Amino acid sequence: MNALERLARPEILALEPYSHAAWRPALTRLHANEAPWRPAGDRSEAGLNRYPEPQPAALVERLAALYGVGADRVLVGRGSDEAIDVLSRIYLRAGEDAILHCPPTFGMYRVAARIQGADVIEAPLRRADGWRLGPERVLAAWTPRVKLVYLCSPNNPTGNRLDAAAIDAIARALDGRAIVVIDEAYAEWSDAPSFVQRTDRYATVAVLRTLSKAYALAGARIGTLIAPPALIGIARRVIPPYALAQPTIEAALAALAPAALAATRERVAALLAERDRVARELARSRWVETVWPSDANFLMIDCVDPDEVMRRSLAAGFILRDLRAYPDLPRSLRVTIGSREQNDALLASLATEARA
Ligand SMILES: *Cc1c(COP(=O)(O)O)cnc(C)c1O
Repeated sequence: MNALERLARPEILALEPYSHAAWRPALTRLHANEAPWRPAGDRSEAGLNRYPEPQPAALVERLAALYGVGADRVLVGRGSDEAIDVLSRIYLRAGEDAILHCPPTFGMYRVAARIQGADVIEAPLRRADGWRLGPERVLAAWTPRVKLVYLCSPNNPTGNRLDAAAIDAIARALDGRAIVVIDEAYAEWSDAPSFVQRTDRYATVAVLRTLSKAYALAGARIGTLIAPPALIGIARRVIPPYALAQPTIEAALAALAPAALAATRERVAALLAERDRVARELARSRWVETVWPSDANFLMIDCVDPDEVMRRSLAAGFILRDLRAYPDLPRSLRVTIGSREQNDALLASLATEARA
């Protein structure tokens, strides 16, 4: 048994997976109890009256090509959130196992673990370290109960990317002992190389990617788990057979066509220039104390008076993310970079001269 199986819940390995209707697109489907007519308002190519293809091959191949891995290393689901859920179901036994994460970070790791009845162990990133990853602190916090270790790079909400050598040190030390999950939801906004290219050096490293951010498809819900084929094999048995809705599959294929990818690259570059402009301007506001460096499409700011910043931005019609519930972020807010016009209006609401 390899480490990916040895670490998994025994019930999952023993599972007889759901046997879905055979996918034989050349034949007329009289085997899945579907209606033979299209519903009103159906604009899909394939027809919403039909069940969608489980793990649609064309989309899996496009995503594999996009990330530069083989199709046998790809699981596609309803956002990274579903990948996190599937990993939790495979690896976490209620009352016995735990995850390890590095707050302040993305909240779903903790929630998915808690839903599964598992514990959450923390190795916090520290303000005094500029939110840098400390591999020695992560490894000191690890115990054999920890089956999933989440590293988010670039990190939400702090915005910084984690040091590649530090991630490597953790992946190397825990290889075969825990699944190290590197969440790269914001990788497209960073010039750091993706860890995807390094996953085949390790037995138990997985990477999360998403189309929700740089590909502008948050509403479609498409995320990718990239992992060794043995883990993808287990995950395909656990994920619901019809995880992806037909309109989502078609929207993702359209967004991944070559011309659309070129347009995305241009938009990402333009937004990064906007981010740097907004960072410079925010730093000049008397209400803002610190603009943290960002490798993502958002900025974390520490405010002189967060309530005042929330009031001013709300009055201008903007909602910012209040981070004050996180430990170590008592005066922090998170600002997503919008369109140039939106950014200008937000900056105007925070200008020192505004509302004397
Ligand atoms: C936005 C985000 C995701 C994306 O989640 P989806 O379910 O793919 O929309 C994943 N991880 C982090 C850290 C995020 O901020």
